[in-house]
Amino acid sequence: MIEHDVLVIGGGLAGMSAALHAKQAGADVAMLSKVYPTRSHSAAAQGGINSAIGVEDSWEVHAYETVKGSDFLGDQDAIEILCREGIEDIFALEHYGVIFDRDDEGLIHMRGFGGTDKSRTCHVGDMTGQTILHVIYEQLLRLEVQSYNEWFVTTLLMEDGICYGAVAMEMISGKLEIIKAKSIIICTGGCGRVYEPSTNGLIVTGDGLSLAYRAGAVLMDMEMVQYHPTTLPANGFLITEGARGEGAYLLNANDERFMLDPRYEATTLAEKASRDVVSRAETIEIREGRGINGCVLLDCRHIKDRILEAFHQISELAKDYAGVDITNEPLPVCPGMHYLMGGIKTDIDGRCYRYNGEGIDPLPGLYAAGEAACASAHGANRLGGNSLLDCVVFGRRAGVHAAQYANDTNDVNISEQVIQTEEQKIADIFARATDERPATLRLEMGNIMHEFTGVFRDESGLLESQRRIGLVRERYPQISVDDKGRVFNTDLVAALELNYMLDCAEVIIASCLARQESRGAHTRTDHPKRDDENWLKHVVIYRTDEGPAIDYLPVIITKWQPELRQY
Ligand SMILES: Cc1cc2nc3c(=O)[nH]c(=O)nc-3n(C[C@H](O)[C@H](O)[C@H](O)COP(=O)(O)OP(=O)(O)OC[C@H]3O[C@@H](n4cnc5c(N)ncnc54)[C@H](O)[C@@H]3O)c2cc1C
Repeated sequence: MIEHDVLVIGGGLAGMSAALHAKQAGADVAMLSKVYPTRSHSAAAQGGINSAIGVEDSWEVHAYETVKGSDFLGDQDAIEILCREGIEDIFALEHYGVIFDRDDEGLIHMRGFGGTDKSRTCHVGDMTGQTILHVIYEQLLRLEVQSYNEWFVTTLLMEDGICYGAVAMEMISGKLEIIKAKSIIICTGGCGRVYEPSTNGLIVTGDGLSLAYRAGAVLMDMEMVQYHPTTLPANGFLITEGARGEGAYLLNANDERFMLDPRYEATTLAEKASRDVVSRAETIEIREGRGINGCVLLDCRHIKDRILEAFHQISELAKDYAGVDITNEPLPVCPGMHYLMGGIKTDIDGRCYRYNGEGIDPLPGLYAAGEAACASAHGANRLGGNSLLDCVVFGRRAGVHAAQYANDTNDVNISEQVIQTEEQKIADIFARATDERPATLRLEMGNIMHEFTGVFRDESGLLESQRRIGLVRERYPQISVDDKGRVFNTDLVAALELNYMLDCAEVIIASCLARQESRGAHTRTDHPKRDDENWLKHVVIYRTDEGPAIDYLPVIITKWQPELRQY
C-alpha cells in the first residue's frame, strides 16, 4: 500500500497547480496521471489564458463579462475570485518561467477573444497550454513531488462516507495498488469524448466525474456542454477563437458575414460574441441552407500577417487536415463539442459535496478542480481563455485547502479487500469472448450524444437519446477485449473508460431533460426563452440505485442581476 497526505488524480493544468500548491503548503503530495503529465489535454490549449492586467481593463469588467457570458448562471463569488486572484497567478506563472508573448513596449501581449471587446488573453504563440504545463512540471520536479505517470485510477476508496484514497493500475505492469491519502483532489479533466466528434483528446473520457459520482458526490450543471464555433468537420480539431479575436470573419455560402444579421443579437461583437451565440448562429445558417457541406467559412485572408506571426499551429492544422492554406483561402469550419461547464460540484475551496436526503453537505476528503469540477465560474457558457485560468486559480485553492485538511485529519485503517473487487472486474472483462468491442459502443454513444444533445435539444430527442444510451448501457456487460495481457493494456483501459463515459452520457441527458428553458449553451427548441423566474438555479444530480436523481441549488449573486444578453 502506498501512502501520502494528498493524492492529486490528474496531471493536467489543474492537477499540476493543485500539486504545486499543496506541496508548497507543506503536504506530502503525489500526482497521478494515466498519461505522461505533459501529454494531458491542457497541452492542446492554443489560444491563451485570460487576465485583466491591461491598463484599460479591470477584474470587475472581466468578472461582469464572465457573468454575462455565463448567461447569469455562474456563481458570482467564484467568478469574482477567478478574475481577481487570476491576476497574481499570471504574474506567478511568468516568474516560474512562462515566456508570454510581448508587445512592442515589452509588456505581456494580450489578444482578443470571445465575449468581450477587450484584449485580455495572454498567450505563448498558439501553444499556451503546452508551455504552461511544461513550466509547472519543472517546478514539480524541482520540489520533488512524487509523480505516478501512466497509472490509471479504477475506483475511489470510501469508508463511512469519507474518501481516503484510490485504487490505481500501474499500466506498465498491470498491477493494482491502493494509494491511501487523507485528501484526494480530482483533476481528471472533462468528458469531451462522450461526444463524436470533439475537439478533445481521445483520453478525455470523464473518468473523475464518474468516479466521484459513484462515490456519492453531487454533479452540477451537467447539461451545459459547450460547442466551439470553429472546428474542422473531418476530425473535430480546434481552430482557436484567437483567430476571430484577431479579426477573422465568418462567411456563409452567399459570402455574407452572417454574424452581423440582427436576428443573432450580436451586431456589435459579431464573430467575437460568446461561443454559444456564434455556434447557434452557424447551426441556423447551415440548417437554413446557407452552409457549404455542413460548414460555414472562416476567412483569415485579411489578417495574413498576424496568422504568419502568431498562429503557426492552426495554419499547419488547416493545411495538413483540411488541405487549406488559410492565408489564401477561407477554411470550412463547423461547431464542435469542446468543453463541459458542469462537473463535480465544489465550493470556492474545491471541496466536493454529497446529498444528505434534504440538501447537500461536504464530502470529507474529496476535492476537485479544473474541467472535472464545477466551482461554477462558467455557468451556462464559458468564455474562451477562462478555463486555463480556472485550472490555475481553483487548482491552487484546492491544493492549499486539501493540504490543510490533511494536516488536521487523523489516519484511518483500511482493508486491502478492495483490490480483490477491482481484480474481479478485470478478470470478468478478460473472461468474456464476445464480438462486442468498446470502440463500437463508444462511437455509437458519441453519435447519439452529438445528434440529440448538441447545439439544439428538445424533449422528444432527449427521450430518444436516453432510450438509445440505455441500449448501449445494456450491451456494456458483454464487451470483451482482444488483449488479455497485463502489460500496458490500452484495450482494457478503453473498456474501463467506456463505463465512465456512459455515466457521463446518462447524467448529461437527465440534466438536459430537467432544464426546461434555454440558457447559454443549453438551447431547448421546445422551451426557447430564458426563464429567470423558474430557472435561475443550478441543476444538481446524484446517484441512486434507481438511477440519476435531480435537485436544484440557488445561483449565488453578489453584484450583477440578470439582464438581457446581447453582444
Ligand atoms: C483543443 C483545445 C484547446 C483549448 N484551448 C483553450 C485555450 O486556449 N484557453 C483556455 O482557457 N482553455 C482552452 N481549452 C480548455 C482547457 O484546455 C481545458 O479545459 C483544461 O486544460 C482542462 O485542464 P484539466 O487539468 O482540468 O484537465 P486535463 O488537462 O484534461 O488533464 C486531465 C488529467 O487527468 C488524468 N486522468 C484522467 N482520468 C484518469 C484516470 N482514470 N486515472 C489517472 N489519471 C487520469 C489525465 O491523464 C490528465 O493528466 C482548450 C481545450 C481543448 C480541447
